[in-house]
Amino acid sequence: MNTFLNCPTDEARLWKPLKEEKVQCRLCAHFCVIAEAERGRCGVRVNRQGRLYTLVRDTVAALNLDPVEKKPLYHYFPGTKTLSLGTMGCNLSCSFCQNSSLSQPPRRGEAVRGERVQAEAVVDLAVRSKAASISYTYSEPTVFFELVEDVATRAGERGLGNIIVSNGFQSRECLESWGPLINAANIDLKAFTEGFYKDICGAGLQPVLDNLKIIRGLGWWLEVTTLLIPGLNDDPGELRAMADFICRELGPQTPWHLSRFHPDHVMLDRPPTPPQTLRRAWEIGKESGLFHVYVGNITGVAGEQTECSGCGAALLRRNGFQAANIGMRDGACRACGAPVEGHGMEIMPLEAST
Ligand code: SF4
Repeated sequence: MNTFLNCPTDEARLWKPLKEEKVQCRLCAHFCVIAEAERGRCGVRVNRQGRLYTLVRDTVAALNLDPVEKKPLYHYFPGTKTLSLGTMGCNLSCSFCQNSSLSQPPRRGEAVRGERVQAEAVVDLAVRSKAASISYTYSEPTVFFELVEDVATRAGERGLGNIIVSNGFQSRECLESWGPLINAANIDLKAFTEGFYKDICGAGLQPVLDNLKIIRGLGWWLEVTTLLIPGLNDDPGELRAMADFICRELGPQTPWHLSRFHPDHVMLDRPPTPPQTLRRAWEIGKESGLFHVYVGNITGVAGEQTECSGCGAALLRRNGFQAANIGMRDGACRACGAPVEGHGMEIMPLEAST
């Protein structure tokens, strides 16, 4: 296959030319065929005279210093900060999108906004801010693949981790290109039916399931998130199938984050997820054998602290996005000595009062 890599300028990577000045983008599982002067479905990759260009090579629309717990990643260097960045654009069109002002305008053909940045300057800022990692997040990092590669390469050289927060709808080529650069990922598993992905997200389920297994094989630390939307993806049978998939195919050590839905974007006709639905989903995850199931966007339901997968002792206590070590020493349970699943668990100091 004649796929273009390592092009200077704003020319895109991972595409191939077709007849009549068309191109095929190879970045995500849509594999858009794009005619001259047209954009792909994400709205940020454009065919100019038979070559594919990215509109977000160095145009950052959001940049913040966050607790890594906010991604959410609960088992990757807990208690550290991550410099989070995103551009505009997304390859999906979820009607419940909670970042639609960033993700959707380019899909409607609107202009791409943001500040131009140099990869080296982003990494300098992360180092100055004492971040342990850089997160590619907010919209969908797949569509700013080139920026991720450029920043992540330099970040790795400076000893920083690289985190992808993604819908998991990449091509295999995209994931394998990122392979050695990325250390951790939080991937959405939005539902467990093709109908949901097709009708509500404009995508498909199977590529996401395939990619979760590829990511596991790449050795990145992996956590999975599901936003529970009343009446759409909260059927107990569907949740059990999802939990069984995670446990069987990705491993019981894979943390599963169950997130509360709030009406947003064009999905305004549904109520927030009831606490009892989140509690039942948490129970299903635990019954399926997952060691770590968490409930987010709400407090007091279940799954706020991390417990030892060996003896059940409390290890990490959370208050919002703050985590405190109450039961680990050197990355192992202080009570039974079992190693705690994750990366960088050993760096967290034991809370003084315990
Ligand atoms: S990233 Fe995906 S949606 Fe965007 S042009 Fe490429 S194949 Fe199409």
